[in-house]
Amino acid sequence: MQATVSGPATSTSAQIQAPAPSTSISTRVEPSAEDATAYFYLCLADTVQLALQRYPHDTGRIQRAAELVRQGHVRLIPDEKLAEVKSSTGRFSYLVSGQCQCKDFQRAPGGKCKHRYGVSLLRRTLKMLAKMAVYTHHVA
Ligand SMILES: [Zn+2]
Repeated sequence: MQATVSGPATSTSAQIQAPAPSTSISTRVEPSAEDATAYFYLCLADTVQLALQRYPHDTGRIQRAAELVRQGHVRLIPDEKLAEVKSSTGRFSYLVSGQCQCKDFQRAPGGKCKHRYGVSLLRRTLKMLAKMAVYTHHVA
């Protein structure tokens, strides 16, 4: 009588334990959207640091450019090697390639206005992110 009672009890506990390891593996492989966003901001912060070291005379423009990227105001148009950059208020947008349509483009040293800085910051951030994604995928 006791053997028939303990029999089903052990089999159900085995069934409960079985799915646990497989679900923990599948959640590890795919990085979540939150991770991707965190990586983006990490790479952006690194890129901004490098730009500040390289162009110490342009701290203000670089910081405003970083803000444009954070606000999602910089949009790359890959097929035409163009980028569209919205002004900080979002009321205007500029088409940026080798040059920019803003007034600061005429004044800025080397024509590096905040819009052009914004485009290069985003491009470098995405490159860094792509390398990082390969690396994390390889580790996982
Ligand atoms: Zn500009």
